[in-house]
Amino acid sequence: MKSLNGSNRGITYQHELHVARHEKDLCSYAAAHVAACVATRHMVIAIFPKAVLEYLDDYLEREIPYFRATSFQAIQYLSLEADQICAEFMRNDWPDEIEFAKSVGGLAKRAICAARQSKVVISNGLGMSLALAGKMEAAVRAEELWIELLQHYPIDVHCFYTQEVFSASKSENLLSRLCSLHETQQFGAMHLQQQELKSA
Ligand SMILES: [Zn+2]
Repeated sequence: MKSLNGSNRGITYQHELHVARHEKDLCSYAAAHVAACVATRHMVIAIFPKAVLEYLDDYLEREIPYFRATSFQAIQYLSLEADQICAEFMRNDWPDEIEFAKSVGGLAKRAICAARQSKVVISNGLGMSLALAGKMEAAVRAEELWIELLQHYPIDVHCFYTQEVFSASKSENLLSRLCSLHETQQFGAMHLQQQELKSA
């Protein structure tokens, strides 16, 4: 496992890979993660497919009593549909570097300004959405573009995938490639053994 935080030119960031067994696990896994970040007053941007976002909204309203307060929610939590964000930077089924910087980079920049002293955390399901649509290489490229973005913005990015992405992938080493693009990895409900990871 690499160091917990990456750094470049004094900018520190966290880029972590989270793998859940299936969508149901992913929902509860991502919800617990987002709730913990919101509760510690981080600013959280959740980018997931609609069904996951609906689960997150229900979970946050249930688990965090003050979450319903419009002002709190508006300041500390933003949920965005992954498909809509993908549409902003995908060109001919491939992540366009300039459009990614405009769309996702612009989002990060605005979040940092709005968060002021708070940490900005992005719960990211963009790669998973691309991979679930069969665009595995585009998902890997999007991860590389996140890394480029992290050289400029002090944000934490937690990328969530489900195990089905890897079993459906024709690219046998997709998991190890994604691992190599992240500082740390968490295998939530997947309980993947280190040996399996090495042979992936
Ligand atoms: Zn990532």
